[in-house]
Amino acid sequence: MFDKILIANRGEIALRVIRAAREMGIATVAVHSTADSDAMHVRMADESVCIGPPPSPQSYLSVPAIISACEITGAQAIHPGYGFLSENAEFVQIVEDHGITFIGPTAEHIRVMGDKITAKDTMRALGVPCVPGSDGGVPDLAAAKRIGEEFGYPVIIKATAGGGGRGMKVAMSADEMESAFMTARAEGKAAFGNDEVYIEKYLTTPRHIEIQVFGDGKGKAVHLGERDCSLQRRHQKVFEEAPGPCITPEERARIGKVCADAVAKINYIGAGTIEFLYENGEFYFIEMNTRLQVEHPVTEGIFGVDLVREQILVAAGEPMSFGQDDLVINGHAIEVRINAEKLPNFSPCPGKITAFHAPGGLGVRMDSALYDGYSIPPYYDSLIGKLIVQGRDRDEALARLNRALGELIVDGIDTTVPLFHALLQEPDVLSGDYNIHWLERWLAENMAQ
Ligand code: ADP
Repeated sequence: MFDKILIANRGEIALRVIRAAREMGIATVAVHSTADSDAMHVRMADESVCIGPPPSPQSYLSVPAIISACEITGAQAIHPGYGFLSENAEFVQIVEDHGITFIGPTAEHIRVMGDKITAKDTMRALGVPCVPGSDGGVPDLAAAKRIGEEFGYPVIIKATAGGGGRGMKVAMSADEMESAFMTARAEGKAAFGNDEVYIEKYLTTPRHIEIQVFGDGKGKAVHLGERDCSLQRRHQKVFEEAPGPCITPEERARIGKVCADAVAKINYIGAGTIEFLYENGEFYFIEMNTRLQVEHPVTEGIFGVDLVREQILVAAGEPMSFGQDDLVINGHAIEVRINAEKLPNFSPCPGKITAFHAPGGLGVRMDSALYDGYSIPPYYDSLIGKLIVQGRDRDEALARLNRALGELIVDGIDTTVPLFHALLQEPDVLSGDYNIHWLERWLAENMAQ
């Protein structure tokens, strides 16, 4: 086992990794920009290294700075968290070339899944059901129009290098194809330096269901059921739950096995998430994320396992601590993402926290790097905390969420907490009756943006 690991991240996820490491008796190294000298992850780690100025490209994304921090402190492994360098195959290669262990999948797996066309081809070949669409890249507008006719409108044009909801455009009819095709291409080029696009049938009422998988890198893999992340704003998740309110045990076992078998076949190592759209009882693969996800705590809650501990174990070459038969669902968990944002426009709202109180009690987990007097810097993601609740069933989890949100105090800045208070009044949310378009529609009707 490692003696010391470095966490190449900040905020709540850096704390999350430090917590797992400490329970395993592993020393931790935090890295930080000059804007984060007083951040909680720096205070909580055993050691810290300043790796550059506030802008991420010069600090949290600076590969030489992070490798140097590892060498100076003697850290044997790097945990990337999510975002930043977590899905950067080149970074993983450099880490391994320096004799440091990357706590995550291989560079090759990250490369394959990072390109959405290759990912889809690979998954299809492994028996995973995909959204019908073009076979690979679509070279020009004429080809795009032929595909539109073949599959029928609406269709979605997606940048193969896309992510974070960018580089995707919907064409409702043939008339809209030209502008959607050109825009998706231009966005792909501008944001990801790659203008290749592909086309999928646009599903009109799907839910977003994702399967958590975990592999030991030696041909063994399990699934940890699904998370329903259908409540989204601008293709970004805001409320996640497990198990999915509409998924039956039979469906879970079936799609879970397909996913576990697929990643076992490629000797996948560590945590991964296979994302699907789910409509009329069918699953359609959209992408795989080769890292820990923001919403992993809901899965940890219902299965009672520590996914970060498990990531560290398998990265150190040890066997997984659970097999498929050990994984039994217990109750229902919900996570809400609390952002430093001002409603109704969701504009970023960094600033000084004048009072902070985290909710507590049975079935409540608050993953946050906030503290009284902390100043949220303006340079990074606006996620400041995740409130995760668990109950014996969905109704109990919802009641607990309502109670815990009421206890939470974050003074000095605006947050997205009022959004969740409002959503908990909605019959559709209470009954779990929503799809990926529900929240956008609700926001348009209830919050003049
Ligand atoms: P990203 O990598 O940018 O997150 P994804 O491919 O994971 O992109 O898709 C993000 C979201 O976009 C999905 O959760 C869903 O809301 C929407 N989406 C993607 N593909 C389709 C599709 N074929 N039909 C309908 N909605 C889609």
